[in-house]
Amino acid sequence: MSRYAKQRIFLGAGSDELLRSRRVAVVGLGATGSVIAAWLARAGVGHLTLLDRDLVERSNLQRQLLYLEADLGRPKAEVAAARLAAANSDIELHPVVADLTSGNARELLSGFDLICDGTDNFEARFLINDLAILTGAPWIYTGAIGAEGVVWPIQVPATACLRCLIEEPPAFGDVDTCDTAGVLGPAVGVVASWAALEALKILTGREPHRELVRFNLWDDERQFLRPPKSRCRFCTEQITEFLDARWTLKASALCGLEGVQIRVNPPGKLDFAALQSRLETRSGSPWKQRGMLLKGRDGGWDITLFQDGRALIHGAITPERARSWYTEVVGC
Ligand SMILES: [Zn+2]
Repeated sequence: MSRYAKQRIFLGAGSDELLRSRRVAVVGLGATGSVIAAWLARAGVGHLTLLDRDLVERSNLQRQLLYLEADLGRPKAEVAAARLAAANSDIELHPVVADLTSGNARELLSGFDLICDGTDNFEARFLINDLAILTGAPWIYTGAIGAEGVVWPIQVPATACLRCLIEEPPAFGDVDTCDTAGVLGPAVGVVASWAALEALKILTGREPHRELVRFNLWDDERQFLRPPKSRCRFCTEQITEFLDARWTLKASALCGLEGVQIRVNPPGKLDFAALQSRLETRSGSPWKQRGMLLKGRDGGWDITLFQDGRALIHGAITPERARSWYTEVVGC
């Protein structure tokens, strides 16, 4: 019996070859990205690029199915590629340990038949959306938090784009993150499997479900939302503000000091009261507000947040880790 026999019965003769010819990028290999990448690797997608900036942490093990205790501290992209290669040695797996930015998005995400969003932040999603506006590549927006999630297959110009739905990333601190709402492993699994199913439709030449599906899996709710009929100026005129770095979250190492500075463009306005209670819960230590500053300690680092969204993180930390901390805690 061949590896894909059962899948071929469902998808039809020729599906093995079709999937083997496809190139897919999975951006972000947390809970959603792990599940999407695993299904696509096992289904025999010929090339998978696996992109993630983070290392495996203990708090990931509750829901990120590709990682084991022995992987703690190793780059997620590398561990994921090795694990999936052990599950399917017929396919090409290309791990990339990097932060997706306006500077590298074109290079890292060009030439794919499909881009799957496994990220946890809107900055990356808007970058993917910009790239998809330019190249016409299909992509699947997937988000999960708590026991809720959304999946939406997008292909411009046949469909609306992410900015037709949400013009700008939510303000910093305005969206729930895994840090504020928590996240349940099985709920992410359902949402990510739904996305992988839509991916298989796209990769075998079928039409995916074109409405945005929104789940609340704890309360047994499912809603289909029709994407907006009127198209935004960004996708109709191919205006790519994120790729052009007019919208950014920049992290740079501090000169002469151990630490990283994060700058947000355009500047936002942080809700210090909400952030303070969130950070105190997270870190288990007091945070202090002084005028335009909010200061405290988390993860062994000394952190200063500025009202305009800027952050200074002092201590042993890389720019990639600092961006992860920021999107996890402050949001975007
Ligand atoms: Zn649009």
